[in-house]
Amino acid sequence: MPYGDKPDIVRDKSAELYEKAKQYFPGGVNSPVRAFKSVYGTPLFIEKGDGCRLWDADGNEFIDFCCSWGPLILGHNHPKIKEKIIEVMQNGLTFGAPTALESELAELIIKNNKYIEKIRFTSSGTEAVMSAIRLARGVTKRDKIIKFEGCYHGHTDALLVKAGSGLVTFGETSSAGIPKAYADETIVISLNDKEAVKAAFEQFKDQISCVIIEPVPANNGLLLQDKDFLQYLREICDENCALLIFDEVISGFRVGFDGAAGYYDIKPDIITYGKIIGGGLPVGAYGASAAIMSNISPEGSVYQAGTLSGNPVAMAGGIAQLTELAKAGFYKELNTKTEDFTNAIQRYASSKSYKFKVFRIGSIFWFAFTDLEKVQTSEAIDPKSMEKFKLMHRELLNRGIYLGPSGYEVGFVSAAHSKLDLEKAKRAIFECLDIVFR
Ligand code: PLP
Repeated sequence: MPYGDKPDIVRDKSAELYEKAKQYFPGGVNSPVRAFKSVYGTPLFIEKGDGCRLWDADGNEFIDFCCSWGPLILGHNHPKIKEKIIEVMQNGLTFGAPTALESELAELIIKNNKYIEKIRFTSSGTEAVMSAIRLARGVTKRDKIIKFEGCYHGHTDALLVKAGSGLVTFGETSSAGIPKAYADETIVISLNDKEAVKAAFEQFKDQISCVIIEPVPANNGLLLQDKDFLQYLREICDENCALLIFDEVISGFRVGFDGAAGYYDIKPDIITYGKIIGGGLPVGAYGASAAIMSNISPEGSVYQAGTLSGNPVAMAGGIAQLTELAKAGFYKELNTKTEDFTNAIQRYASSKSYKFKVFRIGSIFWFAFTDLEKVQTSEAIDPKSMEKFKLMHRELLNRGIYLGPSGYEVGFVSAAHSKLDLEKAKRAIFECLDIVFR
C-alpha cells in the first residue's frame, strides 16, 4: 500500500476476464478507454448496475459517476425504461420498416426544443456527426470544415484530427488510416479563440462549409466556453454562409432538455445528439430546420441510411427516458443536487489550499488538478496533472467510487444519486484529496 490507507480492491475475476477478452479483442476491449491505460490496475468487468450503483465481477460495489459516459441520466436499470423496452420487444426487435415509435420519440424531442424542426435517427453519435457534416457540405457545396482542438466528435475520419502549432493549422491526423486528403479539409483551431476563427474564414473564403463544436466541450476535461465565443461562431457563420453545428452528444438533454443550445440560447443550424436519447441503447440523431433537413435522402440528394436506425427497441428506451426528463422540475433538481455536491468538494479543497478545481455545468463535472480559475483550451491542461488523477482514481475505487478511467473525462450525476450517496461520495473524495496532496 504505497499511498492510501485502504487495501486495493480485489480484481481477480476481472483480471481473469480481461485475459480471456485479450484473446478476442485488440487490447481486450471494444472501445479503447475501457482498457484502463491511464489509471492503475486491470479494467473492471461490470456485472450489474442498479440505480447509481455498479457491481463488478469480483463483487465490488461502486457509486457510479461515469453513467456509461453520460446516457444514464436516470441511473441504471430504471424501471420505466425497462418496462417500456420489454413491452416493445414482445412484438419483435427490428423490421427495417417505419414504426409509430420513431415519430413518438421525434415528437417528444421536437415539441420541447425550439432549435430543430426535423430529425433523423442514427445508431451512434459518430454516425450522427458524420451525417451532419455531409449535410453541411451538401447544402453549402463546400468541403472544408472548422473544428476545435480538444473537441471529440466520434471516430469519423475527417474529425479525428488535431491541431499542429500556429494560429490556424491544417489538421494532422490523430489516427493511422486516415487519408491526408481528408484531414486537409479539416481546419483545427484552439477553443475560445475568435481571432483564429476569423483568420480561418479570411484565409479560406467561401470554402468553409461548417463550424462544428461541442458547445460544452466535455471530452478533454470540461472546457467551458464563454457564451460570447459561441455567439461569435453564430455570427461569423452567418456572415460567411457557413453552417454552425453544435455537437450535443454529451450536452443534449443533459444540461437541460434543450441542451447547450437552450442553455446559451444560441440557435445552431444543425444539432447532433447521441446515446442519451436511447435511454442506454445505441442511438444518435441529427436535427435542423425543415429546410436544411429537406436535403436528406429520400427528400434530397444527401444520402444517409441505417438498417437499425430508429429501431423499435432503441426508440422505446428513448421514449421512456425522455418522458421522465421532460417533466417539470427534473433538471432543476438534478442540477441543484450536483451543484451542492461539487461546491462542497471545492470548498473542502480550497480550505486545504489544494491545487484543485471542480468545473461543472448542469450535472456534468470535471476534477482538474490546477489552480486556474478557468480552463478553456486543451493547452491549459498540464499533462503532468494526470498523475494526480491516476492516484485519485485508484483511491476512489478503493472507497467504492467509480469515475471514468481517465483524467480527461468528465463525471456525471444522475437522478438516481440520492443525497446519502452523494454524502458518502463526498467523504471519500475528501479522503482521496488528502492522499493525493499528502
Ligand atoms: N460527439 C461527442 C461530443 C461525443 O462525446 C461522442 C462520444 O462520446 C461522440 C460524438 C461519438 O458518439 P458515439 O460514441 O456514440 O459514436
